[in-house]
Amino acid sequence: MAAGKIGRRGLMLVLSSPSGAGKTTLSRLLLERDADITLSISVTTRPPRSAEKDGIDYHFVTPAIFNRMVERGELLEYAKVFDYYYGTPRSAVEVALGSGRDVMFDIDWQGRQQLAEKAGEDMVSVFILPPTTRELERRLKQRAQDAPQVVANRMAKAADEMTHYIEYDYVVINYDIEDSMTQLRGILAAERLKRERQIGLGDFVKALREGQ
Ligand code: 5GP
Repeated sequence: MAAGKIGRRGLMLVLSSPSGAGKTTLSRLLLERDADITLSISVTTRPPRSAEKDGIDYHFVTPAIFNRMVERGELLEYAKVFDYYYGTPRSAVEVALGSGRDVMFDIDWQGRQQLAEKAGEDMVSVFILPPTTRELERRLKQRAQDAPQVVANRMAKAADEMTHYIEYDYVVINYDIEDSMTQLRGILAAERLKRERQIGLGDFVKALREGQ
């Protein structure tokens, strides 16, 4: 919490979308532009793409290490997405929330469902849709880091994934990255102002009434 601001409960911002809808670009931009939010870095058994860095994009782990984390209860949620396992390490999230920061999760609908059970009112979820199927395919191919078979597989799954938009609090259609960023930041700004999240309000109003 910055000096002079009212104490606030940290929120958990879940972003989901079919792959290729622009979610990763949006989440990276939000991190750059918003100093109060931090990204939960997932663990995955998927091999890194050429541009990805361990510890920044994901913690890349072996299936054995992933299983051990599951057994020890070190993951807040986990799911199999496509052919690999993905999960959210618990400790980093707890540290960030405990220090008054918001945490963003780039996870799929299965992860949102599991987090919802644990986070309750602290979770805000946003589903990002591509403007058209053609645009989704173009973005997946443009990424050019996945083999053609992987792209085809992801396109096939996208149709199913999209049906989950109905489980989310907000839906952003990503026609344009900057417009979507404005919408995302608007959602975050409004959610941060929710009365229940502003836990310092009681003291603030008391001081106001005492003429301070
Ligand atoms: P990708 O392989 O393209 O990086 O991610 C594939 C999908 O897995 C994306 O929809 C992404 O949001 C999801 N994902 C990434 N990390 C996690 C996680 O920790 N938990 C869950 N449930 N899904 C994740």
